[in-house]
Amino acid sequence: MKHNFGAGPGILPHEVLKQAAAAVVDFNGIGLSLLEISHRSAEFEAVLDEAVKLVKELLEVPEGYSVLFLQGGASTQFAMVPYNLLPEGGKAAYLESGVWANKALKEAKYFGEVEVVATSKESNFTYIPKDFTIPADAAYFHITSNNTIYGTQLHKFFPSPIPVVCDMSSDIFSRKINVADFGIIYAGAQKNMGPAGTTLVIVKDEILGKSGRKIPAMLNYQTQIEGGSMYNTPPVFAIYVSMLTLNWLKSKGGVEAIAKENVAKSKVLYEEIDRNPLFRAVCAVEDRSDMNVCFVSENPEHEKPFLKLCDEKGIVGIKGHRSVGGFRASIYNALPITSIYVLIDAMQEFAERNK
Ligand SMILES: *Cc1c(COP(=O)(O)O)cnc(C)c1O
Repeated sequence: MKHNFGAGPGILPHEVLKQAAAAVVDFNGIGLSLLEISHRSAEFEAVLDEAVKLVKELLEVPEGYSVLFLQGGASTQFAMVPYNLLPEGGKAAYLESGVWANKALKEAKYFGEVEVVATSKESNFTYIPKDFTIPADAAYFHITSNNTIYGTQLHKFFPSPIPVVCDMSSDIFSRKINVADFGIIYAGAQKNMGPAGTTLVIVKDEILGKSGRKIPAMLNYQTQIEGGSMYNTPPVFAIYVSMLTLNWLKSKGGVEAIAKENVAKSKVLYEEIDRNPLFRAVCAVEDRSDMNVCFVSENPEHEKPFLKLCDEKGIVGIKGHRSVGGFRASIYNALPITSIYVLIDAMQEFAERNK
């Protein structure tokens, strides 16, 4: 077995993969594959209902919110959010904490004025700006809870006079959140929830229907809510595997239990990075992510040989994003702490060799 530190699509629990593989051949013993039954069959409706129920249970979603499983990835949400929330001639506020945030705000510019309340672009996003005012006259305030590429994470959310829209693609279900603090939460499944192909959206019903825009059916949250995520054929396999993963999470004690594990995992890894003379973390300490741990080698010539050593030890997906360089260990929910120890051993062995 490999130690999968890939940033996304990311690691899934092995038992989930086995169940998913079996369902592709024969779903629940019905003699048909999950992939060849109607999405409106009782069998699949039970899957979708269970997935929605698990989201509500695990995140304690309050009344007044709808849970959707859509397609098009988080990137489609970049456009769908302003399409639904931003009136003609209106304004939206964005916090630019990374490239994904930048892509989101660029899409919003097609729909109206965008006020960037703060950016850390000048430092290549090594920290999350916190000193800014949220304009009360904007339609919503968009943030990214975890900046996958840079390894920064918001450990405290901002009180806001306007609805907060949060891209939680790479840390959803990794810790407890208060859903009531948000107008919309969205997340592509493939980092911490399931396979690529579906996007979770949790939307506060009362913020919809106010933009005055005519919105095409597929991009309209209200159509999707009315259709129960089945306005058209939903991504059945991605929803099924997400449901299995959420069930796995529940069996492990839910988000509070996994949050403890996630903090323990990131802590030992950051400790090694801070201790090891060959490596260095670049992000602001207070913003360090518990999901994506980014670091560089002090000597750039050490980069290739360290990656080679990782490869020999079955450590995969550790190369940093091309815009940042260095290394990135993505340590999502399904990655066991034993894999972290294998990485730490490799770092220590490497330091020993290069004394
Ligand atoms: C991966 C990622 C995205 C893009 O997700 P897609 O589903 O590929 O569109 C957006 N935001 C964040 C924070 C991500 O990590």
